[in-house]
Amino acid sequence: MPSKPALTPSSSRISTWLDPPTKFSMFRTTSELPATADLAIIGSGFSGASVAYHALKAYPALSIVMLEVGDVCEGESGRNGGHIRPDFYTYASQITAKYGSEEAARLNKFERDDFEAVKRLIKEDSVDCETVEDGESWQVFLTQEEFDEALREFTMMRDLGGDVHDIQVYMRNEAIGVTGIQGCFGAIVSPGSRISPTKLSHTKVLHVALNNCNDATQYSSGDCVSDYSELDEFEHLDMNALRIVPKKSSYVHKITTSRGTLLANKVVHATNAYIDTLLSISSNVRDTTKSPNGVVLVTPIRSHALEIASVGIRRKLSLDPSHNITNMNFNRGGEYLIQRPNGNFVLGGGRRFGNGNGIESFNNNTTAETEIDGSVDFYLSFFFPQILCFDNSHYLSPPKTVLGERDTNEAYSADYGIVKQWTGIMGFSVDEYPLVGKIPSFLEQGQEYCIAGFSGHGMPRIFLAAKALVRMILLEDDDYRYDCQYHSTVGPMHYRYIEGTIEVAENVQLPQCFAITEERLTKMISLAKRKE
Ligand SMILES: Cc1cc2nc3c(=O)[nH]c(=O)nc-3n(C[C@H](O)[C@H](O)[C@H](O)COP(=O)(O)OP(=O)(O)OC[C@H]3O[C@@H](n4cnc5c(N)ncnc54)[C@H](O)[C@@H]3O)c2cc1C
Repeated sequence: MPSKPALTPSSSRISTWLDPPTKFSMFRTTSELPATADLAIIGSGFSGASVAYHALKAYPALSIVMLEVGDVCEGESGRNGGHIRPDFYTYASQITAKYGSEEAARLNKFERDDFEAVKRLIKEDSVDCETVEDGESWQVFLTQEEFDEALREFTMMRDLGGDVHDIQVYMRNEAIGVTGIQGCFGAIVSPGSRISPTKLSHTKVLHVALNNCNDATQYSSGDCVSDYSELDEFEHLDMNALRIVPKKSSYVHKITTSRGTLLANKVVHATNAYIDTLLSISSNVRDTTKSPNGVVLVTPIRSHALEIASVGIRRKLSLDPSHNITNMNFNRGGEYLIQRPNGNFVLGGGRRFGNGNGIESFNNNTTAETEIDGSVDFYLSFFFPQILCFDNSHYLSPPKTVLGERDTNEAYSADYGIVKQWTGIMGFSVDEYPLVGKIPSFLEQGQEYCIAGFSGHGMPRIFLAAKALVRMILLEDDDYRYDCQYHSTVGPMHYRYIEGTIEVAENVQLPQCFAITEERLTKMISLAKRKE
Protein backbone atom coordinates (compact mmCIF):
# COMPACT_ATOMS: atom_id res chain seq x y z
CA MET A 1 0.00 0.00 0.00
CA PRO A 2 1.68 3.27 -1.05
CA SER A 3 2.06 5.81 1.72
CA LYS A 4 0.28 9.12 1.73
CA PRO A 5 2.32 12.29 1.57
CA ALA A 6 3.65 13.42 4.92
CA LEU A 7 1.94 16.71 5.56
CA THR A 8 3.84 17.40 8.75
CA PRO A 9 7.60 17.58 8.53
CA SER A 10 9.71 16.14 11.29
CA SER A 11 11.79 19.26 11.80
CA SER A 12 10.64 22.65 13.01
CA ARG A 13 9.88 25.75 10.98
CA ILE A 14 13.46 26.55 10.09
CA SER A 15 13.59 27.02 6.36
CA THR A 16 15.78 25.04 4.04
CA TRP A 17 17.90 28.14 3.49
CA LEU A 18 18.61 28.64 7.19
CA ASP A 19 19.71 25.05 7.76
CA PRO A 20 22.59 24.74 8.41
CA PRO A 21 22.97 28.28 9.79
CA THR A 22 25.40 30.58 7.99
CA LYS A 23 28.59 31.63 9.71
CA PHE A 24 26.94 34.94 10.57
CA SER A 25 24.29 33.26 12.68
CA MET A 26 23.81 35.32 15.87
CA PHE A 27 26.89 37.26 14.88
CA ARG A 28 27.89 40.48 16.59
CA THR A 29 31.00 42.43 15.75
CA THR A 30 31.12 44.20 19.11
CA SER A 31 30.12 43.27 22.62
CA GLU A 32 28.85 46.80 23.21
CA LEU A 33 26.57 48.68 20.88
CA PRO A 34 28.62 51.42 19.18
CA ALA A 35 27.70 54.92 20.33
CA THR A 36 27.58 56.54 16.90
CA ALA A 37 27.47 55.78 13.22
CA ASP A 38 27.44 57.66 9.96
CA LEU A 39 24.78 55.31 8.71
CA ALA A 40 22.50 53.00 10.67
CA ILE A 41 20.85 50.23 8.68
CA ILE A 42 17.87 48.64 10.40
CA GLY A 43 17.28 45.13 9.05
CA SER A 44 19.80 42.64 7.69
CA GLY A 45 17.82 40.93 4.92
CA PHE A 46 18.87 41.10 1.29
CA SER A 47 17.89 44.81 1.28
CA GLY A 48 19.92 45.82 4.35
CA ALA A 49 22.89 43.67 3.32
CA SER A 50 22.87 45.14 -0.21
CA VAL A 51 22.79 48.70 1.14
CA ALA A 52 25.81 47.93 3.36
CA TYR A 53 27.60 46.31 0.43
CA HIS A 54 27.15 49.22 -1.97
CA ALA A 55 27.78 51.90 0.67
CA LEU A 56 31.10 50.34 1.65
CA LYS A 57 32.10 49.82 -1.96
CA ALA A 58 31.49 53.51 -2.63
CA TYR A 59 32.88 54.88 0.64
CA PRO A 60 35.10 52.29 2.34
CA ALA A 61 35.68 54.51 5.38
CA LEU A 62 32.01 55.05 6.18
CA SER A 63 31.00 53.90 9.63
CA ILE A 64 27.91 51.74 9.45
CA VAL A 65 26.00 49.96 12.16
CA MET A 66 23.57 47.30 10.99
CA LEU A 67 20.91 46.29 13.49
CA GLU A 68 18.84 43.13 13.26
CA VAL A 69 16.08 42.08 15.63
CA GLY A 70 16.41 38.34 14.98
CA ASP A 71 19.12 36.16 13.58
CA VAL A 72 20.89 37.09 10.41
CA CYS A 73 18.72 36.65 7.32
CA GLU A 74 15.93 35.28 9.44
CA GLY A 75 13.21 37.38 7.84
CA GLU A 76 11.74 37.01 4.38
CA SER A 77 15.18 36.74 2.77
CA GLY A 78 15.86 33.51 4.64
CA ARG A 79 12.45 32.02 3.95
CA ASN A 80 11.64 32.45 0.33
CA GLY A 81 11.02 30.09 -2.57
CA GLY A 82 14.54 30.27 -4.02
CA HIS A 83 13.83 31.96 -7.36
CA ILE A 84 15.58 34.82 -9.04
CA ARG A 85 13.29 35.39 -11.96
CA PRO A 86 13.29 38.77 -13.62
CA ASP A 87 9.81 39.60 -14.80
CA PHE A 88 10.16 40.91 -18.33
CA TYR A 89 6.58 41.58 -19.32
CA THR A 90 3.66 40.57 -17.07
CA TYR A 91 3.16 44.11 -15.77
CA ALA A 92 3.28 45.83 -19.19
CA SER A 93 -0.30 47.11 -19.26
CA GLN A 94 -0.47 47.94 -15.55
CA ILE A 95 2.70 50.05 -15.54
CA THR A 96 1.83 51.68 -18.84
CA ALA A 97 -1.54 52.73 -17.45
CA LYS A 98 0.01 54.16 -14.28
CA TYR A 99 3.37 55.50 -15.40
CA GLY A 100 3.50 55.33 -19.21
CA SER A 101 5.09 52.91 -21.66
CA GLU A 102 8.65 54.18 -21.14
CA GLU A 103 8.46 53.19 -17.52
CA ALA A 104 7.31 49.67 -18.45
CA ALA A 105 10.38 49.30 -20.68
CA ARG A 106 12.57 50.82 -17.94
CA LEU A 107 11.40 48.26 -15.39
CA ASN A 108 12.08 45.47 -17.88
CA LYS A 109 15.65 46.79 -18.26
CA PHE A 110 16.10 47.31 -14.54
CA GLU A 111 15.22 43.69 -13.70
CA ARG A 112 17.42 42.45 -16.53
CA ASP A 113 20.36 44.58 -15.29
CA ASP A 114 19.76 43.53 -11.70
CA PHE A 115 19.83 39.84 -12.60
CA GLU A 116 23.08 40.33 -14.53
CA ALA A 117 24.60 42.28 -11.60
CA VAL A 118 23.70 39.49 -9.15
CA LYS A 119 25.17 36.88 -11.50
CA ARG A 120 28.40 38.90 -11.81
CA LEU A 121 28.58 39.23 -8.04
CA ILE A 122 28.20 35.48 -7.58
CA LYS A 123 30.87 34.81 -10.20
CA GLU A 124 33.39 37.14 -8.55
CA ASP A 125 34.41 34.33 -6.25
CA SER A 126 33.47 30.76 -5.79
CA VAL A 127 30.57 31.10 -3.36
CA ASP A 128 28.00 28.54 -4.40
CA CYS A 129 24.54 30.11 -4.28
CA GLU A 130 22.96 27.15 -6.14
CA THR A 131 22.46 29.34 -9.21
CA VAL A 132 22.61 28.08 -12.78
CA GLU A 133 24.33 30.20 -15.41
CA ASP A 134 21.97 29.61 -18.33
CA GLY A 135 18.87 28.59 -16.45
CA GLU A 136 15.40 28.67 -17.95
CA SER A 137 12.49 30.02 -16.00
CA TRP A 138 9.19 28.55 -17.20
CA GLN A 139 5.91 30.28 -16.72
CA VAL A 140 3.49 27.40 -17.22
CA PHE A 141 -0.15 28.20 -17.96
CA LEU A 142 -2.81 25.89 -16.60
CA THR A 143 -5.72 27.67 -18.28
CA GLN A 144 -6.13 29.04 -21.80
CA GLU A 145 -7.36 32.35 -20.39
CA GLU A 146 -4.15 32.87 -18.43
CA PHE A 147 -2.00 31.96 -21.41
CA ASP A 148 -3.87 34.43 -23.64
CA GLU A 149 -3.52 37.17 -21.05
CA ALA A 150 0.24 36.57 -20.75
CA LEU A 151 0.63 36.60 -24.53
CA ARG A 152 -1.11 39.99 -24.66
CA GLU A 153 1.26 41.41 -22.03
CA PHE A 154 4.27 39.91 -23.78
CA THR A 155 3.22 41.38 -27.14
CA MET A 156 2.59 44.75 -25.54
CA MET A 157 6.04 44.81 -23.92
CA ARG A 158 7.68 43.88 -27.21
CA ASP A 159 5.74 46.56 -29.10
CA LEU A 160 6.56 49.30 -26.65
CA GLY A 161 10.28 48.60 -27.00
CA GLY A 162 11.01 46.41 -23.96
CA ASP A 163 13.82 43.90 -24.41
CA VAL A 164 12.23 40.47 -24.96
CA HIS A 165 14.85 39.06 -27.34
CA ASP A 166 15.56 35.98 -25.20
CA ILE A 167 11.99 35.07 -24.34
CA GLN A 168 10.44 32.03 -26.01
CA VAL A 169 6.78 31.16 -26.36
CA TYR A 170 5.88 27.45 -26.39
CA MET A 171 2.48 26.32 -27.56
CA ARG A 172 0.69 23.49 -25.82
CA ASN A 173 2.21 20.37 -27.38
CA GLU A 174 5.77 21.67 -27.32
CA ALA A 175 5.38 22.77 -23.69
CA ILE A 176 3.99 19.37 -22.69
CA GLY A 177 6.86 17.67 -24.50
CA VAL A 178 9.47 19.55 -22.49
CA THR A 179 7.78 19.63 -19.08
CA GLY A 180 5.58 16.55 -19.11
CA ILE A 181 2.80 18.63 -17.57
CA GLN A 182 -0.18 17.29 -19.48
CA GLY A 183 -2.58 19.92 -18.20
CA CYS A 184 -0.67 22.92 -19.51
CA PHE A 185 -1.95 25.20 -22.26
CA GLY A 186 1.37 26.77 -23.16
CA ALA A 187 4.47 28.28 -21.60
CA ILE A 188 6.60 31.41 -21.77
CA VAL A 189 10.27 30.89 -21.06
CA SER A 190 12.76 33.53 -19.95
CA PRO A 191 16.22 33.68 -18.32
CA GLY A 192 16.16 33.02 -14.59
CA SER A 193 17.63 30.78 -11.96
CA ARG A 194 17.13 29.10 -8.67
CA ILE A 195 19.11 30.75 -5.86
CA SER A 196 19.84 30.17 -2.20
CA PRO A 197 18.82 33.53 -0.72
CA THR A 198 20.86 33.11 2.45
CA LYS A 199 24.01 32.14 0.62
CA LEU A 200 23.56 35.18 -1.58
CA SER A 201 22.54 37.68 1.10
CA HIS A 202 24.93 36.70 3.80
CA THR A 203 27.63 34.34 2.76
CA LYS A 204 28.18 36.57 -0.23
CA VAL A 205 26.82 40.12 0.10
CA LEU A 206 27.31 40.64 3.82
CA HIS A 207 30.62 38.80 3.78
CA VAL A 208 31.99 41.03 1.04
CA ALA A 209 30.63 44.09 2.83
CA LEU A 210 32.32 43.10 6.08
CA ASN A 211 35.57 42.26 4.30
CA ASN A 212 35.54 45.69 2.71
CA CYS A 213 34.77 47.43 5.89
CA ASN A 214 36.77 49.36 8.40
CA ASP A 215 36.79 49.05 12.15
CA ALA A 216 33.86 51.41 12.35
CA THR A 217 31.49 49.05 10.58
CA GLN A 218 29.50 46.91 12.95
CA TYR A 219 26.87 44.25 12.65
CA SER A 220 24.59 43.20 15.42
CA SER A 221 22.11 40.31 15.48
CA GLY A 222 19.42 40.14 18.10
CA ASP A 223 19.07 43.89 18.50
CA CYS A 224 15.54 45.10 18.24
CA VAL A 225 15.11 48.71 17.29
CA SER A 226 12.15 49.80 19.30
CA ASP A 227 12.18 53.52 18.81
CA TYR A 228 14.02 56.35 17.25
CA SER A 229 13.73 60.08 17.07
CA GLU A 230 15.53 63.10 15.75
CA LEU A 231 17.63 64.96 18.24
CA ASP A 232 18.60 68.54 18.44
CA GLU A 233 21.58 67.91 20.67
CA PHE A 234 24.23 68.48 18.11
CA GLU A 235 26.37 70.72 20.34
CA HIS A 236 26.57 68.16 23.11
CA LEU A 237 28.04 65.41 20.97
CA ASP A 238 31.69 64.62 20.61
CA MET A 239 32.57 66.16 17.26
CA ASN A 240 35.46 63.79 16.62
CA ALA A 241 33.35 60.76 17.20
CA LEU A 242 30.85 61.87 14.64
CA ARG A 243 32.59 61.48 11.37
CA ILE A 244 29.92 63.09 9.28
CA VAL A 245 28.39 66.16 10.74
CA PRO A 246 25.42 67.79 9.11
CA LYS A 247 26.29 71.28 7.99
CA LYS A 248 22.89 72.67 7.33
CA SER A 249 20.78 70.98 9.91
CA SER A 250 21.49 69.70 13.35
CA TYR A 251 19.43 66.54 13.12
CA VAL A 252 20.94 63.42 14.54
CA HIS A 253 18.90 60.26 14.90
CA LYS A 254 18.65 58.61 18.24
CA ILE A 255 18.01 54.90 17.81
CA THR A 256 16.82 52.99 20.82
CA THR A 257 17.70 49.30 20.73
CA SER A 258 17.48 46.45 23.20
CA ARG A 259 21.22 46.94 23.89
CA GLY A 260 21.22 50.68 24.29
CA THR A 261 21.18 53.83 22.24
CA LEU A 262 22.92 54.64 19.00
CA LEU A 263 23.28 58.08 17.46
CA ALA A 264 23.37 58.08 13.70
CA ASN A 265 23.57 60.71 11.06
CA LYS A 266 21.44 58.81 8.57
CA VAL A 267 19.08 55.91 8.92
CA VAL A 268 18.04 53.31 6.36
CA HIS A 269 14.87 51.39 7.14
CA ALA A 270 15.28 47.96 5.56
CA THR A 271 12.70 46.31 7.79
CA ASN A 272 10.40 45.10 5.03
CA ALA A 273 6.99 44.02 6.38
CA TYR A 274 7.71 45.77 9.68
CA ILE A 275 8.41 49.15 8.16
CA ASP A 276 5.23 50.71 9.52
CA THR A 277 6.06 49.78 13.08
CA LEU A 278 9.12 52.03 13.13
CA LEU A 279 8.83 54.55 10.38
CA SER A 280 6.93 57.47 11.70
CA ILE A 281 5.03 58.04 8.46
CA SER A 282 2.05 56.29 9.93
CA SER A 283 2.17 58.17 13.20
CA ASN A 284 2.58 61.47 11.36
CA VAL A 285 -0.42 60.62 9.28
CA ARG A 286 -2.21 59.61 12.42
CA ASP A 287 -1.46 63.01 13.90
CA THR A 288 -2.63 64.93 10.90
CA THR A 289 -5.69 62.87 10.08
CA LYS A 290 -6.70 62.03 13.64
CA SER A 291 -7.22 58.47 12.42
CA PRO A 292 -6.85 56.21 15.46
CA ASN A 293 -4.91 53.54 13.57
CA GLY A 294 -2.78 55.60 11.24
CA VAL A 295 -2.23 53.92 7.87
CA VAL A 296 -0.32 50.85 6.83
CA LEU A 297 1.82 51.40 3.75
CA VAL A 298 3.37 47.92 3.74
CA THR A 299 1.10 45.04 4.70
CA PRO A 300 2.60 41.90 6.24
CA ILE A 301 1.39 38.84 4.33
CA ARG A 302 2.27 35.28 5.25
CA SER A 303 3.45 32.96 2.51
CA HIS A 304 4.30 29.25 2.67
CA ALA A 305 6.95 27.03 1.14
CA LEU A 306 7.94 23.37 1.37
CA GLU A 307 10.95 21.32 0.44
CA ILE A 308 9.98 17.96 -1.00
CA ALA A 309 12.36 15.01 -1.23
CA SER A 310 13.16 13.81 -4.72
CA VAL A 311 13.10 10.18 -3.60
CA GLY A 312 10.21 8.43 -5.29
CA ILE A 313 9.81 11.19 -7.88
CA ARG A 314 13.00 10.66 -9.82
CA ARG A 315 12.40 13.27 -12.40
CA LYS A 316 13.79 16.59 -13.44
CA LEU A 317 11.82 19.74 -14.15
CA SER A 318 12.76 19.26 -17.78
CA LEU A 319 12.09 15.95 -19.50
CA ASP A 320 14.07 17.18 -22.50
CA PRO A 321 17.83 17.33 -21.79
CA SER A 322 18.32 20.22 -24.21
CA HIS A 323 16.44 22.44 -21.74
CA ASN A 324 17.87 23.54 -18.41
CA ILE A 325 14.71 24.38 -16.47
CA THR A 326 15.62 25.75 -13.05
CA ASN A 327 12.30 27.16 -11.99
CA MET A 328 8.64 27.16 -12.89
CA ASN A 329 5.68 29.20 -11.85
CA PHE A 330 1.96 28.68 -12.24
CA ASN A 331 -1.34 30.43 -11.64
CA ARG A 332 -0.11 34.00 -12.30
CA GLY A 333 2.89 33.40 -10.08
CA GLY A 334 0.68 32.13 -7.25
CA GLU A 335 2.66 28.87 -7.10
CA TYR A 336 6.36 28.52 -7.78
CA LEU A 337 8.71 25.58 -7.95
CA ILE A 338 12.45 25.02 -8.16
CA GLN A 339 14.59 21.92 -8.17
CA ARG A 340 17.70 22.10 -5.98
CA PRO A 341 21.07 20.61 -6.96
CA ASN A 342 20.34 17.58 -4.72
CA GLY A 343 17.17 16.90 -6.73
CA ASN A 344 14.77 18.05 -4.01
CA PHE A 345 11.98 20.44 -4.93
CA VAL A 346 11.00 23.69 -3.22
CA LEU A 347 7.38 24.65 -3.79
CA GLY A 348 5.85 27.88 -2.56
CA GLY A 349 2.58 29.76 -2.82
CA GLY A 350 -1.06 28.96 -2.15
CA ARG A 351 -1.60 32.04 -0.04
CA ARG A 352 -4.93 32.85 -1.67
CA PHE A 353 -6.27 29.77 0.14
CA GLY A 354 -4.98 30.96 3.49
CA ASN A 355 -6.75 32.67 6.31
CA GLY A 356 -7.56 36.22 5.20
CA ASN A 357 -5.35 35.71 2.10
CA GLY A 358 -2.35 35.49 4.39
CA ILE A 359 -2.73 39.03 5.68
CA GLU A 360 -1.33 39.27 9.14
CA SER A 361 -1.67 41.79 11.85
CA PHE A 362 1.25 42.15 14.15
CA ASN A 363 2.14 43.78 17.35
CA ASN A 364 5.15 46.01 17.03
CA ASN A 365 8.44 44.23 16.43
CA THR A 366 7.28 40.65 16.53
CA THR A 367 8.26 38.08 13.97
CA ALA A 368 5.48 35.55 13.62
CA GLU A 369 7.16 33.21 11.15
CA THR A 370 6.31 29.93 12.80
CA GLU A 371 2.68 29.09 12.18
CA ILE A 372 1.54 27.04 9.22
CA ASP A 373 -1.91 27.63 7.78
CA GLY A 374 -3.47 24.18 7.29
CA SER A 375 -5.46 25.13 4.17
CA VAL A 376 -2.39 26.47 2.38
CA ASP A 377 -0.34 23.50 3.48
CA PHE A 378 -2.97 21.12 2.15
CA TYR A 379 -3.32 23.00 -1.11
CA LEU A 380 0.43 22.88 -1.80
CA SER A 381 0.58 19.18 -0.97
CA PHE A 382 -2.32 18.67 -3.32
CA PHE A 383 -0.93 20.82 -6.12
CA PHE A 384 2.53 19.28 -6.30
CA PRO A 385 1.67 15.72 -7.37
CA GLN A 386 -0.70 16.99 -10.02
CA ILE A 387 2.03 19.03 -11.59
CA LEU A 388 5.02 16.78 -11.50
CA CYS A 389 4.33 13.21 -10.77
CA PHE A 390 1.03 11.69 -11.26
CA ASP A 391 -2.29 12.23 -12.94
CA ASN A 392 -1.80 15.66 -14.43
CA SER A 393 -4.00 15.23 -17.46
CA HIS A 394 -6.17 18.01 -16.13
CA TYR A 395 -5.85 20.73 -13.57
CA LEU A 396 -7.96 19.84 -10.56
CA SER A 397 -9.95 22.39 -8.61
CA PRO A 398 -8.51 23.95 -5.48
CA PRO A 399 -8.72 21.90 -2.30
CA LYS A 400 -11.63 23.70 -0.70
CA THR A 401 -13.88 22.24 -3.39
CA VAL A 402 -12.39 18.75 -3.30
CA LEU A 403 -11.70 18.23 0.37
CA GLY A 404 -14.24 15.39 0.47
CA GLU A 405 -12.47 13.56 -2.34
CA ARG A 406 -9.09 13.68 -0.70
CA ASP A 407 -8.96 10.08 0.48
CA THR A 408 -9.90 8.62 -2.85
CA ASN A 409 -7.81 10.93 -4.97
CA GLU A 410 -5.34 8.83 -6.94
CA ALA A 411 -2.99 11.78 -7.05
CA TYR A 412 -2.03 11.09 -3.47
CA SER A 413 -1.02 7.51 -3.95
CA ALA A 414 2.61 8.29 -4.29
CA ASP A 415 5.66 8.11 -2.19
CA TYR A 416 6.99 11.57 -1.59
CA GLY A 417 7.97 13.26 1.60
CA ILE A 418 8.07 16.80 2.84
CA VAL A 419 11.51 17.51 4.22
CA LYS A 420 10.76 20.98 5.53
CA GLN A 421 7.90 23.36 5.66
CA TRP A 422 8.07 27.03 6.59
CA THR A 423 6.44 30.41 6.24
CA GLY A 424 7.79 33.88 5.70
CA ILE A 425 6.26 37.30 6.08
CA MET A 426 6.20 39.23 2.83
CA GLY A 427 5.93 43.01 2.79
CA PHE A 428 3.32 44.16 0.24
CA SER A 429 3.24 47.88 -0.35
CA VAL A 430 -0.17 49.46 -0.86
CA ASP A 431 0.44 49.97 -4.59
CA GLU A 432 2.56 46.77 -4.85
CA TYR A 433 5.73 48.58 -5.94
CA PRO A 434 8.77 48.83 -3.68
CA LEU A 435 9.44 51.95 -1.66
CA VAL A 436 12.99 53.11 -2.30
CA GLY A 437 14.32 56.55 -1.44
CA LYS A 438 14.38 59.35 1.04
CA ILE A 439 11.33 59.97 3.17
CA PRO A 440 10.04 63.33 1.94
CA SER A 441 10.31 66.32 4.20
CA PHE A 442 6.56 66.74 4.45
CA LEU A 443 6.62 63.57 6.56
CA GLU A 444 10.08 63.53 8.12
CA GLN A 445 12.57 66.23 8.98
CA GLY A 446 15.58 63.97 9.42
CA GLN A 447 17.84 61.97 7.10
CA GLU A 448 15.73 58.86 6.75
CA TYR A 449 15.67 56.46 3.84
CA CYS A 450 13.68 53.40 3.09
CA ILE A 451 14.06 50.24 0.99
CA ALA A 452 11.11 47.95 1.54
CA GLY A 453 7.85 46.56 0.20
CA PHE A 454 9.18 44.34 -2.59
CA SER A 455 5.81 42.59 -2.58
CA GLY A 456 7.03 39.02 -2.96
CA HIS A 457 9.40 39.78 -5.84
CA GLY A 458 12.58 41.13 -4.27
CA MET A 459 15.33 38.89 -5.60
CA PRO A 460 15.62 40.45 -9.09
CA ARG A 461 15.10 44.01 -7.80
CA ILE A 462 16.80 44.58 -4.46
CA PHE A 463 20.50 44.57 -5.37
CA LEU A 464 20.36 47.45 -7.86
CA ALA A 465 17.62 49.27 -5.95
CA ALA A 466 20.04 49.31 -2.99
CA LYS A 467 22.78 50.65 -5.25
CA ALA A 468 20.54 53.47 -6.42
CA LEU A 469 19.57 54.22 -2.83
CA VAL A 470 23.21 54.40 -1.74
CA ARG A 471 23.96 56.86 -4.49
CA MET A 472 21.01 58.90 -3.32
CA ILE A 473 22.17 58.81 0.28
CA LEU A 474 25.77 59.68 -0.43
CA LEU A 475 25.66 61.96 -3.41
CA GLU A 476 22.26 63.51 -3.67
CA ASP A 477 22.60 64.74 -0.16
CA ASP A 478 23.66 68.34 0.35
CA ASP A 479 25.87 67.60 3.33
CA TYR A 480 27.98 65.05 1.46
CA ARG A 481 28.24 67.29 -1.58
CA TYR A 482 29.33 70.12 0.65
CA ASP A 483 32.03 67.98 2.24
CA CYS A 484 33.28 66.72 -1.12
CA GLN A 485 33.61 70.28 -2.38
CA TYR A 486 35.18 71.42 0.85
CA HIS A 487 37.68 68.59 0.69
CA SER A 488 38.76 69.45 -2.83
CA THR A 489 39.32 73.13 -2.13
CA VAL A 490 40.70 73.40 1.39
CA GLY A 491 42.17 69.97 2.08
CA PRO A 492 41.23 67.18 4.45
CA MET A 493 39.27 67.89 7.55
CA HIS A 494 39.58 65.70 10.60
CA TYR A 495 36.47 63.71 9.73
CA ARG A 496 37.68 60.22 8.98
CA TYR A 497 35.61 59.45 5.92
CA ILE A 498 37.12 62.40 4.14
CA GLU A 499 40.47 60.60 4.25
CA GLY A 500 39.09 57.65 2.30
CA THR A 501 38.98 57.52 -1.45
CA ILE A 502 35.63 58.80 -2.53
CA GLU A 503 34.35 56.63 -5.33
CA VAL A 504 31.23 57.90 -6.91
CA ALA A 505 28.70 55.09 -7.01
CA GLU A 506 27.80 54.27 -10.58
CA ASN A 507 24.51 55.80 -11.60
CA VAL A 508 21.65 53.33 -11.63
CA GLN A 509 18.35 54.53 -12.92
CA LEU A 510 15.76 53.58 -10.35
CA PRO A 511 12.38 52.84 -11.91
CA GLN A 512 10.04 55.73 -11.26
CA CYS A 513 7.47 53.34 -9.83
CA PHE A 514 9.90 52.44 -6.99
CA ALA A 515 10.74 56.01 -6.05
CA ILE A 516 9.36 57.61 -2.94
CA THR A 517 7.89 60.91 -3.96
CA GLU A 518 5.52 63.19 -2.17
CA GLU A 519 2.93 62.58 -4.89
CA ARG A 520 3.20 58.78 -4.68
CA LEU A 521 3.09 58.73 -0.89
CA THR A 522 0.06 60.97 -0.84
CA LYS A 523 -1.69 58.57 -3.24
CA MET A 524 -0.60 55.56 -1.18
CA ILE A 525 -1.85 57.13 2.01
CA SER A 526 -5.29 57.76 0.53
CA LEU A 527 -5.33 54.24 -0.98
CA ALA A 528 -4.39 52.79 2.40
CA LYS A 529 -7.13 54.77 4.11
CA ARG A 530 -9.69 53.45 1.62
CA LYS A 531 -8.54 49.88 2.39
CA GLU A 532 -8.90 50.38 6.15
C1 LIG B 1 7.58 32.06 1.08
C2 LIG B 1 8.21 33.17 0.29
C3 LIG B 1 8.66 32.93 -1.00
C4 LIG B 1 9.26 33.94 -1.74
N1 LIG B 1 9.80 33.61 -2.93
C5 LIG B 1 10.46 34.53 -3.64
C6 LIG B 1 11.10 34.17 -4.82
O1 LIG B 1 11.14 32.98 -5.15
N2 LIG B 1 11.70 35.14 -5.57
C7 LIG B 1 11.69 36.44 -5.17
O2 LIG B 1 12.17 37.30 -5.90
N3 LIG B 1 11.16 36.80 -4.00
C8 LIG B 1 10.55 35.88 -3.22
N4 LIG B 1 10.02 36.23 -2.03
C9 LIG B 1 10.21 37.61 -1.59
C10 LIG B 1 11.68 37.94 -1.19
O3 LIG B 1 12.17 36.93 -0.34
C11 LIG B 1 11.71 39.31 -0.53
O4 LIG B 1 11.29 40.28 -1.49
C12 LIG B 1 13.06 39.73 0.03
O5 LIG B 1 13.67 38.71 0.77
C13 LIG B 1 12.88 40.96 0.93
O6 LIG B 1 14.11 41.25 1.53
P1 LIG B 1 14.21 42.39 2.62
O7 LIG B 1 15.62 42.48 3.04
O8 LIG B 1 13.56 43.62 2.11
O9 LIG B 1 13.31 41.86 3.82
P2 LIG B 1 13.67 40.84 5.01
O10 LIG B 1 14.50 39.74 4.52
O11 LIG B 1 12.39 40.50 5.68
O12 LIG B 1 14.56 41.72 5.98
C14 LIG B 1 14.02 42.63 6.93
C15 LIG B 1 14.78 42.44 8.23
O13 LIG B 1 14.44 43.49 9.14
C16 LIG B 1 14.44 42.94 10.46
N5 LIG B 1 13.67 43.84 11.34
C17 LIG B 1 12.35 44.12 11.28
N6 LIG B 1 12.01 44.99 12.26
C18 LIG B 1 13.15 45.27 12.95
C19 LIG B 1 13.45 46.10 14.08
N7 LIG B 1 12.51 46.83 14.69
N8 LIG B 1 14.74 46.15 14.54
C20 LIG B 1 15.73 45.42 13.91
N9 LIG B 1 15.49 44.62 12.84
C21 LIG B 1 14.22 44.55 12.36
C22 LIG B 1 13.77 41.58 10.24
O14 LIG B 1 14.04 40.69 11.31
C23 LIG B 1 14.40 41.13 8.93
O15 LIG B 1 15.55 40.34 9.10
C24 LIG B 1 9.39 35.26 -1.23
C25 LIG B 1 8.94 35.51 0.07
C26 LIG B 1 8.37 34.49 0.82
C27 LIG B 1 7.92 34.78 2.23
